[in-house]
Amino acid sequence: MSITHPVRTDVVVVGAGFTGIYMVHKAHELGLSVVGIERGQGVGGTWYWNRYPGLRCDVESLDYSYSFSEEIQQEWTWTEKFPAQPDILAYLEFVANKLDVTKDFRFNTEVTGAQWNEQTSRWLVATSAGEIDTKYIVWGTGILSTPKIPNIPGMDTFEGELLNTATWPHAPVSFAGKKVAVLGTGSSGIQVIPIAAETAEHLYVLQRTPSYSLPARNRPLAPERVAEVKARYGDYRAEARSSMLGAVTETLDQPFSVMGEDLARSELERNYEYGSPMRFASAVVDTIADDDANAFVSAFAKAKIRSRVNDPAIADKLIPDYRIATRRLCIDTNYYETFNRENVTLVDLRDEELIAMTPTGFTTTAGEYEVDMFILATGFDAVTGTLSRLDIRGRGGASLKEKWSHSPSTYMGLAVAGFPNMFVATGPGSPAPLSNVVVSIETHVEWIAGMLARLEADHVTSFEATAESEQEWTAHVNEVSDSTLMRFSDSWYTGTNVAGKPRVNVVYLGGCAPYEARLKEIAAEGYRGFTLTT
Ligand code: NAP
Repeated sequence: MSITHPVRTDVVVVGAGFTGIYMVHKAHELGLSVVGIERGQGVGGTWYWNRYPGLRCDVESLDYSYSFSEEIQQEWTWTEKFPAQPDILAYLEFVANKLDVTKDFRFNTEVTGAQWNEQTSRWLVATSAGEIDTKYIVWGTGILSTPKIPNIPGMDTFEGELLNTATWPHAPVSFAGKKVAVLGTGSSGIQVIPIAAETAEHLYVLQRTPSYSLPARNRPLAPERVAEVKARYGDYRAEARSSMLGAVTETLDQPFSVMGEDLARSELERNYEYGSPMRFASAVVDTIADDDANAFVSAFAKAKIRSRVNDPAIADKLIPDYRIATRRLCIDTNYYETFNRENVTLVDLRDEELIAMTPTGFTTTAGEYEVDMFILATGFDAVTGTLSRLDIRGRGGASLKEKWSHSPSTYMGLAVAGFPNMFVATGPGSPAPLSNVVVSIETHVEWIAGMLARLEADHVTSFEATAESEQEWTAHVNEVSDSTLMRFSDSWYTGTNVAGKPRVNVVYLGGCAPYEARLKEIAAEGYRGFTLTT
């Protein structure tokens, strides 16, 4: 009988997206052995899986990229204001090759669970390709990596093409001459809908909750603009890192009560013309903090939507009735104008309920629709969904899934009491979901690497966030959230898009820069809030 021993390593990094690539590189720099695990066939993470036509990031390319290497940021050249998915994927492949980390990943490999061993103070990580015995584990599984599949009766009987924006096929998909339905009008739906409408015979947009969306005004990046930023990239990055959202927004930084309506309107107009959700949301700095400010900004955005739709009755249906920016503010190219086309029908699921899918289409309380293709753009079981599907067992066999089913609590959005030697990059309670996530990722990876260096130098065998520090941080995250209008948010920010999830804001709203300052203080104070065992 042959016995297979687990592979032994210092660090396991799960995920080959922005986090995993940089974390593996950092492990190399520290002289630690590292194994990366990735279920896709290549690097890219989010940008590997989501590849529907029209997908581009809503953070500008000059911001949405690593800042840690001057060589990389000088060598790579972005060509558009907002990067398209193929460009981001190509960028991540370029960085992974440049850092020589691709070889450290096991692709097509799924992690199924991880178990903390009290005796050895190490993790045993179970994967589809065998076990790995590791001192540390870093989850770089991202915030939007588990698609939410709606439970529509009869979905498995549909005989046409059933697609999901979050797991889009690698082979080209044609809408030409087809009757197509898109379910979901969040960021993903809003991007794929105008493209599908261009060639589909007919497009049905199934909307339950309308989103606020702004024209992206995507355009080629002028070479002079790229050169200008590259010439001072260090300063540009520092400005982004010292901001609330992790990106340069050029805000006046004044609350609505100080600005007054005229200035607020002209700042909203300026940022609307620029085209950027972060800039628009920062134009009136207390948009998600003050009801009057929010009402003013919401009214501005509603009027803009109305101006883009020919039929006022359809415009009424497309205009949201919730406070702007308490759900994701979207950007689009011709989204609202798509509803002016003859071949597009808005199916408002608030007027007619979606009952079922059939072999040839779908039925609502208003009737039957025949379609050849049905696209799910229904979002994600975000932030905690991926790790909660794995069997992760910490001290005393405690289950992470069970723990987070009550409250997704962490210390500083990256460590969990009861789960020693484990980091959750961009975890619940970090600013990541509302920030330029690359900045949030760099903040986490660099801080984790700093802590690993210290642990190794001091021969620490295990570290763990204390229950008190976790409780205090989670209470602070909730307190900040409750002091804003985000307490009214029904979305993946608060887990309400998935049945059975606790209603808790998973985003730390205190801002990127204050958050990083706090992390630095914790490190400077000998990793306050952690127990270190030597
Ligand atoms: P999402 O924002 O959660 O939107 C999902 C949509 O599907 C919503 O309209 C939702 O309606 C609808 N839906 C879900 N289940 C449904 C059901 N059973 N019946 C009817 N409608 C249903 O998901 P997403 O569009 O994939 O975006 C998720 C996040 O990914 C974004 O917030 C953003 O952070 C990121 N993203 C970014 C970009 C970009 O950078 N441009 C692009 C894509 C995604 P309800 O609200 O009524 O549930």
